[in-house]
Amino acid sequence: MLSTHPCPVFGVDVDGVLADLVHPLLDRVFARTGVRFRTDDIVRFDLAGILGPTCWDAAREILAAPGFARNLPLLTGAGEGIASLRSLGRVVFVTAPFAPSPTWAHDRAAWLAEHFHAQPSDVVSLADKTLFCGDLLVDDSPAQLEAWTRLGRLAVRMRHPWNAGAPGIAAHGWEDVVRAVAERFGAVASGPAATAQ
Ligand SMILES: [Mg+2]
Repeated sequence: MLSTHPCPVFGVDVDGVLADLVHPLLDRVFARTGVRFRTDDIVRFDLAGILGPTCWDAAREILAAPGFARNLPLLTGAGEGIASLRSLGRVVFVTAPFAPSPTWAHDRAAWLAEHFHAQPSDVVSLADKTLFCGDLLVDDSPAQLEAWTRLGRLAVRMRHPWNAGAPGIAAHGWEDVVRAVAERFGAVASGPAATAQ
């Protein structure tokens, strides 16, 4: 059923916000190349530049393999966090496509359905997230956060080594995200556990 947006609409990114893409990717790059990168090495949103040509070629093949996006682990607190946001408004998953993978969008939708019971109308695939018409964006990409906030829109930045200094309300994890959203959208500030009552 299509929504008439009767309540605040929250856009939530997937990789780096709900799903842990970096750890499994770096593990598989290590298995293929013998070169070990760690999360703290990813200090820019530029995997290709940081990994270098050989490891980036391996990473691209891993990312493009059917099923990769289907089996990513959840980040800590994501389940409780989405439940809390849904008590405050409508959650839409706003995710950028990865064109070299023939199954990325399908894998992503299935992953979101499994973990968050997301319906097709809850998922948007957008390379330019400013085209999403929502009241808030939770993201970890500096480019997306900069484009979104440049338009005067509210963003929450899920903190990672690759987005230090990017705009948006800084969140160390899902409890911070929920607190920031609750403070700005009319509910009493609370953590995920409290909103489950
Ligand atoms: Mg992301």
